[in-house]
Amino acid sequence: VWENCLSFIEDNITPQAYKTWFEPIKAVKLTDNALSIQVPSKFFYEWLEEHYVKLLRVALNKSLGNQAKLVYVIKMENARGKKPAFTEKIPSSQRSKVNSQDISMALNTKNPELKNPFVIPGIRNLKIDSQLNSNYNFENFLEGDSNRLARSAAKAVSAKPGGTSFNPLLIFGGVGLGKTHLAHAIGVEVKDKHPNKTVLYISAEKFTQQYIESVRKNTRNDFIHFYQVIDVLIVDDIQLLSGKKGTQDVFFHIFNHLHQNGKQVILTSDKAPVDMQEIEKRLLSRFKWGLSAELLKPDYLTRKKIITCKLYRDGVEISDSIVDFVAKNIKSNIRELEGAIISLIAHSSFNKEEVDLALAKKIVENYVHNSKKEISIDHIQKVVSSYFQMDIDTLQSKTRKRHIVQARQIAMFFAKKMTKASLASIGKQIGDRDHATVLHACKTVNNLTSTDKQFKKFVEDLDKRLVE
Ligand code: ADP
Ligand code: MG
Repeated sequence: VWENCLSFIEDNITPQAYKTWFEPIKAVKLTDNALSIQVPSKFFYEWLEEHYVKLLRVALNKSLGNQAKLVYVIKMENARGKKPAFTEKIPSSQRSKVNSQDISMALNTKNPELKNPFVIPGIRNLKIDSQLNSNYNFENFLEGDSNRLARSAAKAVSAKPGGTSFNPLLIFGGVGLGKTHLAHAIGVEVKDKHPNKTVLYISAEKFTQQYIESVRKNTRNDFIHFYQVIDVLIVDDIQLLSGKKGTQDVFFHIFNHLHQNGKQVILTSDKAPVDMQEIEKRLLSRFKWGLSAELLKPDYLTRKKIITCKLYRDGVEISDSIVDFVAKNIKSNIRELEGAIISLIAHSSFNKEEVDLALAKKIVENYVHNSKKEISIDHIQKVVSSYFQMDIDTLQSKTRKRHIVQARQIAMFFAKKMTKASLASIGKQIGDRDHATVLHACKTVNNLTSTDKQFKKFVEDLDKRLVE
């Protein structure tokens, strides 16, 4: 019976969806008109109920007649790796959901949504938030000698994800040289050119957190399944997997699955594969299967191009000699260069200050200087206030203007996160507040980061900027 159902289902959905959601199912029992099927996890069962219930009804109806019933059996993974135990999942609500009455209703109904049970929303409609930043696109990623190879490999991969020999594509290079930007650009372009593909950008750090969480909640299988349905997986900063054996194992597993199925994997790292310590050999060897492309420090011309372009985009005119001066002096990293440009723009457009060489010198010094400093609460206040284009006095003031309050809360949040100072001492230093205010600020920032995209971007930008 189940075989019949399967072949019917197979004809009605994409091969990918079939493979992911139906191949792992086992028929375990048939009594009268009730078929029991075993699914790998609760998540799996919920997914089937949510996405394929209509199809299942029709398939079952065809092979078992109108009285057909479906019973899910969820395979329990035993923590000690003993024989799997089984639990039956037939909550009354679900049982009635899949009974024969519902099947015929689905077939006869006038409800347009159910009119054609054969058009089943496939896995392609899966709503996964890609986590992409659309500002990090190819257009904004200026080409130069230092990034030409990596950029063109990234372009090739976006045109034919999974269809080139650049799989995985590993982009590596030092801090602030554009790895994250380029990785996003691939995702953004794939979404644009291949809207049906499921793209996901994730930092290795977040991947690790999710994995640990899944182990804690006993949903490791669901975690793996989630990643296995992605067409283009981008994992940023994989050097952070160093020494994390469990996460590496699970990533190895996911990687192999994706690779075997012709899915594209894009990785970034701040080290070349040979220099990655404490990454398992078998994983490293996978990384080398595709192409490793390095982002080099930007050469003078690229630096100049970046400055000119950013100024132009913001409609700010600054004399050539000053652009030259900045391009000559900030060499090591594009993020630093951007910081200096933002300062220049801020001075010229907000303070209506004439940008002369003396000012440019001050700014450049500031950037080169800052990057060598330890992270202190002062540093945090400086960076946060300059990011939001206000001065430190404003940041510390008693005002309740929303954007200033938010900037202050962000500063407190980072002070808590990046220094060893106590809540009370943080409060004291950031505008003489008490410890409860700081605690509240940290909570607010955490909440807003998960609900407000723009806010989240601020925090992420600052996170990077603070450690430069
Ligand atoms: P990484 O991930 O290597 O540390 P990022 O991708 O975060 O570096 O880049 C740092 C900053 O520099 C970002 O704001 C990014 O937009 C900018 N940037 C990097 N490369 C370029 C480039 N080629 N053209 C324009 N901006 C760039
Ligand atoms: Mg990065």
